[in-house]
Amino acid sequence: MKLAELGEFGLIDRIKAHVAASPSVLLGIGDDAAALVPTEGFVTLITSDMLLEGVHFDLSFCDPRTLGRKSLSVNLSDVAAMGARPRHFLLGVALPKDVPLKFMDGFMAGMLEQAERFGATLVGGDTCASKGGLAISVTALGEQHPELVLKRSGARPGDLVCVTGTVGDAAAGLNLLMRGEREGFLVSRQLDPTPRVEAGIALAAAGCVTAMIDVSDGVLQDLGHICEMSGVGARLELAKLPLSDEYLSECAEDPFALALSGGEDYELLFCIPEGRDAEALEVCARAGVPVSVIGTVTAGSGIELAAPDGTPYRAPRRGFDHFA
Ligand code: ADP
Ligand code: MG
Repeated sequence: MKLAELGEFGLIDRIKAHVAASPSVLLGIGDDAAALVPTEGFVTLITSDMLLEGVHFDLSFCDPRTLGRKSLSVNLSDVAAMGARPRHFLLGVALPKDVPLKFMDGFMAGMLEQAERFGATLVGGDTCASKGGLAISVTALGEQHPELVLKRSGARPGDLVCVTGTVGDAAAGLNLLMRGEREGFLVSRQLDPTPRVEAGIALAAAGCVTAMIDVSDGVLQDLGHICEMSGVGARLELAKLPLSDEYLSECAEDPFALALSGGEDYELLFCIPEGRDAEALEVCARAGVPVSVIGTVTAGSGIELAAPDGTPYRAPRRGFDHFA
């Protein structure tokens, strides 16, 4: 069957058929708006991210299922970066008329399997035809107690700067994809990131985090956002950047440039008061994610970079900016 035969409403019904009921969803897909039951004592965190063909993804790089997973993952990462638990999401899609139905089925299977893994229910969206490429817009909703919500703005001089997992992998993976590679660890870090949902919630509950953000535009850019919003500076020790073996063998010449500016790792970057690092490490270890202390928060502004030999390092780029 073709998309044209199924039609807009046939496609919506097909999506709806795969969505399980949830006690928090009074009205889901099918009415003019969804009705959600808030959990008592919690506030709602809401975030939205677009993925555009030719800007965020290349259909020759990935299968539809993986694209479906990533489209949700990048949004869940923003929910996680607030220390919140994902609950619901909306999906807007603009589809070129010649998109095979099989593509949409794969895309939805990927998105809904990721949704199930992280406990988020699809509650609505919008579907339209595109005269350009494929466009995807996801809006994710999460919940947390108001006093536990983690913002970008609470870092204080003397805090330690920490990051989960490894950085630079996704950017190195993108370089490999552009050179024709289609698999391996780095490629999967680019195409199929894992949002650090459990670690984000555990860090919020631990109460030791002063500021948090997810690394979507590169460590320098994203730490820059924390610094600007907290009115502080930072000093990073490059020797402490967590780099995977696969990344190091790919970027041996200058391992720091891409690790600092490469985006899309979707790791959590956060600050904790001095002396709370053992606690943060333990909390994340229980959530299955390693953590590295990579620097300190300083008074003033700007990010200072120290090379492994202690000399100042000048980063060739800061990170991703759509209009730069
Ligand atoms: P309206 O015309 O009132 O905006 P629509 O016909 O666009 O409603 O949508 C009908 C129902 O299907 C709504 O509940 C909407 O949230 C849902 N919906 C539309 N597109 C999607 C989608 N891509 N994924 C999930 N739900 C969708
Ligand atoms: Mg509509």
